[in-house]
Amino acid sequence: MVEPHMYEVEVLGQRYTVEHVPNLLVEGERCEGACYVSERTVKIDDALRYQDARYNRVLKHELMHAALRTSGLAELMDLRMEEAICVLAESISIK
Ligand SMILES: [Zn+2]
Repeated sequence: MVEPHMYEVEVLGQRYTVEHVPNLLVEGERCEGACYVSERTVKIDDALRYQDARYNRVLKHELMHAALRTSGLAELMDLRMEEAICVLAESISIK
């Protein structure tokens, strides 16, 4: 289980806060994760803290959004391409 408190990660030299949010909504819709580059914040639905594998997949996905947007690469692609790269990043694991 991931601890309930917020923590920070670094993406391309930028400090991002990871927040756990009960019933996370993005534009009125339930979401497992969200990335807010201007706020340097990644939000993850609090319920995922009890599902380690799913939590890690969502965190990697959102951190890839953070990296693509922080670097400016996201501006060179459409949203479908950005999303595809983030889904790909979910499968990266280090053992
Ligand atoms: Zn995404």
